[in-house]
Amino acid sequence: METNQSKIVRVSSFAGAGCALQALGLVSLILAVATLFTVIGPIVFGFFGIWLFIYGRRKSIWLECSNCGGKLANNRIKICPYCKAIFIVGERKCLN
Ligand SMILES: [Zn+2]
Repeated sequence: METNQSKIVRVSSFAGAGCALQALGLVSLILAVATLFTVIGPIVFGFFGIWLFIYGRRKSIWLECSNCGGKLANNRIKICPYCKAIFIVGERKCLN
């Protein structure tokens, strides 16, 4: 009997919106340095830049089902909510 088995794959994109946000974050950090004399500039741009960077990083790395490509919230999920595939846990192999 064959069971629908799948794996959780970690996907990272360098071309998506996440990367663009990270680039924007970097620009914001540069602006923070450039506006250092204004006092308020580095605070605003600094915080904004760091936030964009973290947010962009979260957007550019995600987990998905190797069977259907559906996005997953975390790697502790046992069964794919989209195609009902059972995820095989990486190292732990149970062969009988
Ligand atoms: Zn799936």
